[in-house]
Amino acid sequence: MSKEHDYDLLVVGAGSGGVRAARVAAAHGARVAIVEEHRIGGTCVIRGCVPKKLLVYGAHFAEDLVDARRFGWTVENPTFDWPTLRDNVLAEVSRLSGIYADTLANHKVEAISGRAVLTGPHSARVEGRELRADKVLIATGARPHVPDVPGSEHGITSNEAFHLEAIPKRIVIAGGGYIANEFAGIFHEFGAEVTLLNRSDQILRGYDEQIRDRLLQISLTKGIRFLFNTKMQSITRKSDGTLTLAVGGGASPVDCDALMFATGRVPNTDGLGLETAGVELDDGGAVRVDDDNRSVSCASVYAVGDVTNRVQLTPVAIREGQAFADTVFGDKPTRVDYGCIPSAVFSHPPLAGVGLTESQARNQLGTIRVYTSDFRPMKNVLANRNERALYKLVVNEATDKIVGAHMIGPDAPEILQLAAVAVKAGLTKAQFDACVAIHPTMAEEMVLLK
Ligand SMILES: Cc1cc2nc3c(=O)[nH]c(=O)nc-3n(C[C@H](O)[C@H](O)[C@H](O)COP(=O)(O)OP(=O)(O)OC[C@H]3O[C@@H](n4cnc5c(N)ncnc54)[C@H](O)[C@@H]3O)c2cc1C
Repeated sequence: MSKEHDYDLLVVGAGSGGVRAARVAAAHGARVAIVEEHRIGGTCVIRGCVPKKLLVYGAHFAEDLVDARRFGWTVENPTFDWPTLRDNVLAEVSRLSGIYADTLANHKVEAISGRAVLTGPHSARVEGRELRADKVLIATGARPHVPDVPGSEHGITSNEAFHLEAIPKRIVIAGGGYIANEFAGIFHEFGAEVTLLNRSDQILRGYDEQIRDRLLQISLTKGIRFLFNTKMQSITRKSDGTLTLAVGGGASPVDCDALMFATGRVPNTDGLGLETAGVELDDGGAVRVDDDNRSVSCASVYAVGDVTNRVQLTPVAIREGQAFADTVFGDKPTRVDYGCIPSAVFSHPPLAGVGLTESQARNQLGTIRVYTSDFRPMKNVLANRNERALYKLVVNEATDKIVGAHMIGPDAPEILQLAAVAVKAGLTKAQFDACVAIHPTMAEEMVLLK
């Protein structure tokens, strides 16, 4: 470190990527400071994966309590108290944030509270204090995109959903991605009338068509309403608090008590002073980096995680943070392998996938074999719950290798995580077949596909 710098590394943003990079760089011997303007832990811990998943667990009791009766349990008039769940989840989030802060302190990373604005390639200002560092890591994540529609200030985003005073009676969720579908399930299970309003005519672009179609069918059966090919034109609030959404195409306006935008996430680079350091952004406002997470235009500035808009998932941000720290401070050049990244949607029921979808495989490989198992899980049969699971393997005909695995049904993300190891390792269908099933499970379908 040169004498003119206070730190070897200044990390901006204490989320998934930033915390990992800071901690590992410090373990490699670097003097590290990390700046956070909101709460240590970032999106995943404070207002993303973790509180979301806890709400999904809470929501699922609505179905479990109904199903329990068929298993002999007497469950009289169960009621749901949102403030109890909300406050327990928020307390857990605070506990986890504290653990992250402790981890940073244990690694002698200086945590600085406030908003950082870059003032040059080696410096940033935080609450009037100038910090100088040999290297700067931008790990500022992304924020919800709110479309430019008159009255959009009446809507909320996922950030606010965790703090609601009450569950709205009627909620419209704008968007069709994973956050929209997850919250549609959560609010529906909590008893809200849910309408998912989407500009296009599909949900969950990028996931296998058959799997997402199954989610759509099950969601419709549960009573979630879908308005496809619908564009919001304006939002007005009536004196009784009701929101009225004017929509295009001559369709009737939609009334609701709350509107949530789940219309994508944009990299957090506005007002960050990146121009003073000559850091180049792409058209979507993401920091442009090379394969080693280094800014393509400023040698002392690096970026990891959602702010680079590569794959906006926590495990990817963490790997990028780790690779950055190992490469730059650990003398251990490491690059993230972006192949075969599994992902999940914690809808009701959840779905998950890895590798090529059927249509991607057909386009890329020509001849493929597709194996599906469309079945009613044993627990659903006894519960009289008419919800079928769908498992699917996509196989390259030429090599017998499994190039894609996709599933929807109870615990699908838990099951798919291990199937993803096999797909990533390039195992063949014959190798799946050679594995003896664990009976009775749902996962056994994966080795019994004919
Ligand atoms: C509702 C929701 C559900 C999600 N569910 C999942 C899931 O199930 N699985 C999954 O893998 N991913 C999920 N994600 C995505 C995941 O949260 C992100 O991919 C991940 O948090 C990205 O990590 P990051 O380090 O890039 O940024 P973040 O975790 O967003 O951290 C960035 C931090 O930088 C801080 N910051 C920004 N600007 C400044 C500044 N100028 N100065 C100081 N601090 C600043 C922010 O306050 C924030 O704490 C979800 C996201 C949302 C919103």
